[in-house]
Amino acid sequence: MSFDTLGLSDVVLKSLTDSGYETPTEVQARTIPAALTGSDLRVCSNTGSGKTAAFVPPALERVLAARNDPAKRGVKGQLNKGPRVLILAPTRELALQVAKELSWLYAKAGARIATCVGGMDASKERRNLSQGAQIVVGTPGRLRDHLERGALDLSALKVAVLDEADEMLDMGFREELEEILNATPE
Ligand code: AMP
Repeated sequence: MSFDTLGLSDVVLKSLTDSGYETPTEVQARTIPAALTGSDLRVCSNTGSGKTAAFVPPALERVLAARNDPAKRGVKGQLNKGPRVLILAPTRELALQVAKELSWLYAKAGARIATCVGGMDASKERRNLSQGAQIVVGTPGRLRDHLERGALDLSALKVAVLDEADEMLDMGFREELEEILNATPE
């Protein structure tokens, strides 16, 4: 099987193949077509099985679709503010690893990404958010801080990914997750 049977656009396919990804792993082959339909998914997959590249390509399609659709632009032709994709991860290390994995894709497709993680410079993160990041990756506590300070607007969100959701709950982030998800569209 190859990636081009999964329903991805040429731009996203090219990003994958340019990065040396030729054959989808099992979790990618099973997740990507289902995610492209807009379904909610709960995916269980081992570390190292390629789960990051299972949720990134379909999420990127949503960013590209919003950018290319004039109906989704505001009165001045600007895109609605706030990210289209939010990826939550339990630890700074995992969030930064996801952002790195994203970088090969977003660079080629021209999507902007912001990371928001505990222990990093919050004012720099606010600046990145205010400049219109389409994809935001972060840890629950820091993302909730940005939300409460009005730096993160989730009203135009299309995709929310809870990476290692079980781990986030085990670490006691339920309250933060609920507050963040409650700020997203129905
Ligand atoms: P993950 O499970 O998301 O941490 O991915 C594990 C590693 O596999 C990462 O280094 C990815 O870059 C790599 N990887 C993921 N999907 C593929 C693929 N389809 N082909 C080649 N390498 C991949």
